[in-house]
Amino acid sequence: MTREGKVASPAGPLLDTLGRPLRDLRISVTDRCNFRCVYCMPKEVFGKDYAFLERKELLSFEEITRLARVFHGLGIEKIRLTGGEPLVRRNLEQLIEMLSGIEGLDLTLTTNASNLAKKARALKAAGLTRVTVSLDALDDPTFMAMNDVDFPVAKVLEGIDAAAEAGLAPIKVNMVVKRGMNETGILPMARYFKSRGHILRFIEYMDVGASNGWRMDDVVTAREIVETIDAEMPLEPADANYTGEVAERWRYRDGSGEIGVIASVTQAFCSDCTRARISTDGKLYTCLFATGGHDLRTLLREGASDAELAKRVREIWSLRSDRYSEIRSSKTIPIKKIEMSYIGG
Ligand code: SAM
Repeated sequence: MTREGKVASPAGPLLDTLGRPLRDLRISVTDRCNFRCVYCMPKEVFGKDYAFLERKELLSFEEITRLARVFHGLGIEKIRLTGGEPLVRRNLEQLIEMLSGIEGLDLTLTTNASNLAKKARALKAAGLTRVTVSLDALDDPTFMAMNDVDFPVAKVLEGIDAAAEAGLAPIKVNMVVKRGMNETGILPMARYFKSRGHILRFIEYMDVGASNGWRMDDVVTAREIVETIDAEMPLEPADANYTGEVAERWRYRDGSGEIGVIASVTQAFCSDCTRARISTDGKLYTCLFATGGHDLRTLLREGASDAELAKRVREIWSLRSDRYSEIRSSKTIPIKKIEMSYIGG
């Protein structure tokens, strides 16, 4: 496959109303998932009768690649494929191969790893740079209670090992911590991943979507998490790798690796947020907590040129003023938010 250049950008750097550039793009390739994590896609809401998108509503691989190129021309340096569960989208390797033709792109994927052992080598061969794996506990009773489909921990660990073997590194492992569900798993997770060369990151449970019945009391704060680990395995702060890095980095004092905490609730990082999201059906969202998106699929399907698409994205981004997490107090704001599985986690 040839390496193609950027679609030319007609004007200077693209900044929103708060001076934030557009750097990262998350693309949800499917709104479906084979897990029913109780805090994300609870069975009571995402049951047998739930109306997932129809195939024709999904962006095709060609449409996704075209948008990716347009966004790359506007300054995007990193693309993360997500969902839903991206590895349940058929032939995802083909999409990766198409995207890897865009020069200089950091191309990554967030997955529950249920299909990773099978797919890691093919994903790497197609041009995927690295993966982030979600894993909320190391013991089956807790993990199964959270994924709610009885999926065992061992299979996720197998997927992580396969990804490491395939060279999809550095591997990040994300654990969402919800009080009363899995906070007793913080130390076992830290002990397991310490020294294995993977970067474990703890995420504060967020009030995304409208299905999970979020309460501030359910949030185990990043501070609490760092203190818990530090008491057994001393930590020291490490510098951010780059401006806008969402995880606050902490290094083990004995030199055996690092962890990250993503304090999206208690230390909102809106002021550095350079992320846009494209939903499974081609709407552009400028915030994870957005109530509405901007339809790019219609433009694509009505024959808009690359320049017209770029102009529309410029218009949208330059008007962006979102800073939901900085405004939210201890109460979720009662607006109709979009589900994470659709907008892309
Ligand atoms: N299925 C893939 C996976 O499991 O990684 C990708 C999509 S999933 C929505 C992406 C990430 O969002 C997962 O790590 C998940 O734990 C996290 N997530 C979902 N709901 C969340 C919430 N309410 N608060 C914090 N993180 C959440």
